[in-house]
Amino acid sequence: MNRDLLEKAIRDMIIAIGENPEREGLKNTPKRIAKLYEDIFSGVGKDAKKNINVYKVKNEDEMVILSDIPFYSMCEHHFLPFFGSVHIAYIPKNNRITGFSNLIDVVDTISRRPQIQERMTTEIADTINDMLDPLGVLVVVEARQFCIELQGRNRKNIKTVTSAIRGGFRKNATRQEALQLLKKVSSSED
Ligand SMILES: [Zn+2]
Repeated sequence: MNRDLLEKAIRDMIIAIGENPEREGLKNTPKRIAKLYEDIFSGVGKDAKKNINVYKVKNEDEMVILSDIPFYSMCEHHFLPFFGSVHIAYIPKNNRITGFSNLIDVVDTISRRPQIQERMTTEIADTINDMLDPLGVLVVVEARQFCIELQGRNRKNIKTVTSAIRGGFRKNATRQEALQLLKKVSSSED
């Protein structure tokens, strides 16, 4: 990331909206935002497949579920945050699994770049599908989108939900079972 260029661009943006970049509250804003962007956009140019280590553990087609993984991302159309939870379910094939923390890292890498929720969801599913070649993958993402909420009144309760299904989860019964389990896991926390 080019920190100097970013700081200059943010300073220009402050001028462009008619503000004074030298006034006390704004003086260090370009520096602050540039530093923050290094974290928010740390997934740019990174390959999420490298987050996945493959392990062999005896598994007889049992489902693996990781739910309520928090994520924060930036909508690429408005550069405003969208954030929420990712739920992942997969059924390993030939005893091939990955670590839970590896799945969290995949979510981090893919969400920390200019994104849209729909593509983020399919990228997570495709990364797991390509690396583990499982019997099936189901990814569900629930989010709140600042660009939706800021553009109208009474929109703060809108939840956007997207899902991506690969392999065996296309079968209705398996998908139902996974969704039921996810529901149980999520509601047990409330
Ligand atoms: Zn947007």
